[in-house]
Amino acid sequence: MDCIFCKIARGEISSAIVHRDDELIAFRDVQPQAPTHVLVIPVRHVETILDLKSADSGLIGRMVLLANELAEKEGLAQNGYRLVFNCKSYGGQAVYHVHLHLLGGRRMTWPPG
Ligand code: AMP
Repeated sequence: MDCIFCKIARGEISSAIVHRDDELIAFRDVQPQAPTHVLVIPVRHVETILDLKSADSGLIGRMVLLANELAEKEGLAQNGYRLVFNCKSYGGQAVYHVHLHLLGGRRMTWPPG
């Protein structure tokens, strides 16, 4: 599979991994947009959040809970943080393997560009 996040999941590309279990991996974004920028991905290749089915509701819930846990560990819980899923081109998705951005450590602006 020629997917960069699958390669990270298989250990074929090195990355700063902060969490790994059978279902999920989290690693630091290579081009951080905030002092903390971590990506939470499912090990299983799913292209976009639009491809998730009702059977995946547990998976998506665990992605959010893991992001919360990592936010606590990174010291982001008190001031807050942002969780983002980008979907397809207009959503700004560049890597077609579902990922949840955890961004924190600075005040975020709204609306996004
Ligand atoms: P998105 O635009 O939502 O698809 O976000 C993809 C993210 O993946 C971007 O923030 C990239 O900086 C990040 N990214 C791409 N390649 C790598 C990599 N090898 N290791 C870590 N993060 C990456």
